[in-house]
Amino acid sequence: MKNYIMALDQGTTSSRCKISVAAEAMAKLGVSAEDIASIGITNQRETTILWNKLTGEPVYNAIVWQCRRTSDMIQTIKASGLDRVIKEHTGLIPDAYFSATKIKWIFDNVEGVKEEAEKGNILFGTVDTWLIWKLTGGKVFATDYTNASRTMLFDIKKLKWDEEILNALNIPKSILPEVKPSSHIFGLTEKGLLGGKITIGGVAGDQQAALFGQGCYEKGEVKNTYGTGCFLLMNTGNTPITSNNGLLTTIAASEKGKVQYALEGSVFVAGAAIQWLRDELQIIRDAAETEEAALSVKDTNGVYVVPAFSGLGAPYWDQYARGTIVGMTRGFNKNHLIRATLESIAYQNYAVLKAMEQDAGVEIKRLKADGGASSNNFLMKFQADILGIEVIRPSCVETTALGAAYLAGLATGFWKDREEIKSNGRAPEIFNPDMEEAIRKKKLQGWNKAVKHSFEWEKESD
Ligand code: ADP
Repeated sequence: MKNYIMALDQGTTSSRCKISVAAEAMAKLGVSAEDIASIGITNQRETTILWNKLTGEPVYNAIVWQCRRTSDMIQTIKASGLDRVIKEHTGLIPDAYFSATKIKWIFDNVEGVKEEAEKGNILFGTVDTWLIWKLTGGKVFATDYTNASRTMLFDIKKLKWDEEILNALNIPKSILPEVKPSSHIFGLTEKGLLGGKITIGGVAGDQQAALFGQGCYEKGEVKNTYGTGCFLLMNTGNTPITSNNGLLTTIAASEKGKVQYALEGSVFVAGAAIQWLRDELQIIRDAAETEEAALSVKDTNGVYVVPAFSGLGAPYWDQYARGTIVGMTRGFNKNHLIRATLESIAYQNYAVLKAMEQDAGVEIKRLKADGGASSNNFLMKFQADILGIEVIRPSCVETTALGAAYLAGLATGFWKDREEIKSNGRAPEIFNPDMEEAIRKKKLQGWNKAVKHSFEWEKESD
């Protein structure tokens, strides 16, 4: 009996020995390859690896998604007008964050790569592709739609690698993997690795896996991952929606034959503001303390914190904005500050969600939450109050791994359909809004006023 689904969750800080970790987990559970119905892979997106297929060795270190070394290339792209093509075809706003310029950088800077690519020996992959290739002993060279949609080289409407962008950046098509749906039988693991052949049945980028793991299968459903920053994704159904608010259009994880799209927005500083309270201001010792501190006061005493430490993203898009605290009077104390910092996370999410509603023309009815800071009950309740909708926190907050597992299990028939998955989990926690409308409005007005004070702070005045 195949009773298990294995999820490999490859994050930014824990990459190296996944295969030995998988073997260890199997040994601990007393599970052998025959017991595992399918493997699902989910990964940090955009991170770029080029390797030589003859040696199986990377030609250069993986360039991680955060890396800004190709910012200048993006300026050149903008100056040349290619940015419009990129936006239209890939749904992305050109940035060093995505894989395309990282690939180009390796081609331009690492000796011998061009020559080897001309011989057909160089392969490119995001981390999923690398893992699939390694797990299948070099037999399968593939990625899924969600990961491809983050390379800035994939036409998300035609579902094909984009020749125009490839040509403009001088990237040979021969290095690119085949692109498949997220829930798909990609191949079998090589026998020697995990003690037997196991089907790889699911692949998705981490944020898309979380959207699927949260059960956001229908148009208008949204998840928010509360981590260092916040990552918000809204399922927009089977049409890609172009944002007027600087949100990204991307492909959502879905099953065979059913491509779905998503709008994506992020808040740069969320849990990081709590780290600031702990590490710089040293007014808390531990992030979890903020809940009690916030509840010890009845409000923020009229104060707003705008944690625009590295500018503001969607929908404000002001790279010159800086952190701001407004509205202080003599009665303002550290618990007010802690509360206002937590509230700032909710306000920023509110702004992104309203932008999504506007772009997609749908009303968001509930928000599904996960990530480290979603354990804060005050934050969840305040988020519900400020949005005026329920916020749902699942019993299993490992939604990324869960999503990969669902995709893998659906591909092999471990689960019949999504309905069967829905009936699977334990009851989630629901935070209901009950703030008076007048108070909600007043607080939002205050936030809108406060956020304006942070704008263009760092810009040189003339
Ligand atoms: P990431 O994946 O981005 O590293 P996590 O999902 O692990 O983030 O969440 C960690 C972040 O959440 C940290 O920035 C931390 O300050 C914040 N955090 C963790 N617990 C709480 C809490 N109880 N209240 C508020 N913030 C919290």
